[in-house]
Amino acid sequence: MSSLIDKIIRPEIRALSAYHVPSARGLIKLDAMENPYTLPPFLREEISRIVVGAEVNRYPDPHAVDLKQTLRTTLSIPAGMDILLGNGSDEIIQIIALATARPGAKLLTVEPGFAMFRMIAAFADMEYFSIPLLSDFSLDADHMLDAIARHQPAVIFLAYPNNPSGNLFDTEALCQIIEASPALVVIDEAYHPFADKTFLDKLPDYPNLLVMRTLSKLGLAGLRLGLLTGNPEWLVHFEKIRLPYNIGIITQLVATKAMQHFAVLQQQAYEIKQNRTVLMSKLAALDGVEVFPSDANFILFRVNHASEIFQALVQQGILIKNLDNTHFLLKNCLRVTIGTMDENTQFLKTISNLINQD
Ligand code: PMP
Repeated sequence: MSSLIDKIIRPEIRALSAYHVPSARGLIKLDAMENPYTLPPFLREEISRIVVGAEVNRYPDPHAVDLKQTLRTTLSIPAGMDILLGNGSDEIIQIIALATARPGAKLLTVEPGFAMFRMIAAFADMEYFSIPLLSDFSLDADHMLDAIARHQPAVIFLAYPNNPSGNLFDTEALCQIIEASPALVVIDEAYHPFADKTFLDKLPDYPNLLVMRTLSKLGLAGLRLGLLTGNPEWLVHFEKIRLPYNIGIITQLVATKAMQHFAVLQQQAYEIKQNRTVLMSKLAALDGVEVFPSDANFILFRVNHASEIFQALVQQGILIKNLDNTHFLLKNCLRVTIGTMDENTQFLKTISNLINQD
């Protein structure tokens, strides 16, 4: 049996570990960059009526016309640009990889970066290249430009702000990369709700640029909805790979309703940003903690004995993300998602006790 499996399943897939999601049962969950706030009661009531009335005996609208129209206006998608929807932006990364993979096709990104870029390159049998960030997690533009010239990648993925570092890369450097690239460049703006910058308005200037967004960090992670926007001449090909009914009827209806109340989600994002400022300064004030700047809904920080601190936090009921030793730049690094004020206070109290015991 195992030799049959070895013969049939590709070695790159056998070598992979499945994306690991730790159990957060009973823990304060500050590991996955979710919005800690639920929707307000009036909106939950409207949504429950919509869900009850949904015609689940029918397939959903394959083109999600109403949802796309609502997204177009709320997110200010530039005129002339199309939208492609995915079951989370993860699915969109996969669609792009499937459309561009051919023998020798390369996917280029930076590390530390979003883990799914590497995994999806393996799923699609693309060659994966990553350029290390500098020690302050800024972009090594010269190294990137050199790699682009040498490797001639098919696609470049860059998260803006970046995960797990939380920073925005230099806009000029990114523009230089887009201009110098014979590749398709996808700017992944998953954390845009917490940053003040976007590449959306640059779409008309660069024919090789696409921008990706998600509703996951805005408070709708459970719905699974990501979107890609850009020139219809690109998107028409990705549409062929998108499975016909990838966005279910409940997601379409609930996301449309929630986006019609976009101000509610924006207010929550604003509160998360306020909480980020408080958490950032209190965390930085702890002995021996180095905090990295963040334009996202999480903070990367370095602390002595990070792995032990992570474990002790779990034991005391708090789940964050341990990045210690996952990359040479992430030695002793942990990542905490911004929670509610109460959750952040609990986290701070617990971690400061642990540091003081050290
Ligand atoms: N891009 C980045 C940079 C991310 O960090 C994440 C989620 N952690 C995603 C995309 C995926 O988001 P989703 O599939 O929930 O839309």
